[in-house]
Formats: sequence, C-alpha cells, structure tokens
Amino acid sequence: MIHPTPEQACPGCGSRLTRASEVSGRRGPKPGDMCLCYRCGAKLQFGEGLKLKLLTPEDIKNLKPVELAALRNAVEAVLLWALTRPEILHEVPTAGLGANLGR
Ligand SMILES: [Zn+2]
Repeated sequence: MIHPTPEQACPGCGSRLTRASEVSGRRGPKPGDMCLCYRCGAKLQFGEGLKLKLLTPEDIKNLKPVELAALRNAVEAVLLWALTRPEILHEVPTAGLGANLGR
C-alpha cells in the first residue's frame, strides 16, 4: 500500500518525495521507521512530522542484524527497480525543487 507523506526533498539526492510504501505490514510510516529513496537508494529515517534524515554510519552500526539484512535487501531491490525504469530519471525535479523547499 502506498501512503502519502509530506512533500520534501531527499536528503541524499534532492528528488521530490511525496509517498512511501511499506516493505511489510499495512500501516503508514511513523517516526523512527527507516526508508529508502527510490531514486538514489539513500538510507533514510522518518523523524517528527515525517521529516526525513539520512541514516548516519552510527545509526546503521546500531541496527540489529536482521534489520541490517532487511535494509541491504531493500537497497538492492530499490536500485534494481530504478535501473529498470529509466523514465523516472526524467520525471523527478531535483535542484529546482530543493530550492523551493528552502534547501
Ligand atoms: Zn535520493
């Protein structure tokens, strides 16, 4: 299921992000959940107000082994999906949108 999220730029690449889909479960994202940018594969985490931040190396180091394995699998799946859909490289505004969001 796809859930709307507050519009914001990916902290990794500046792509416009407006939705999230869960890997498992049916609920929408909540603070503390990890997610990936579908365009660049950046490892992100939802914070208060569903604002995204990049996971730090320290954050990743503190993941449980099962969480780290799930994250690695998701990164590979997202990047493979993006490689098979070259049209997304042309539909995502980047620098202009980043400016609109005050970045
Ligand atoms: Zn990105």
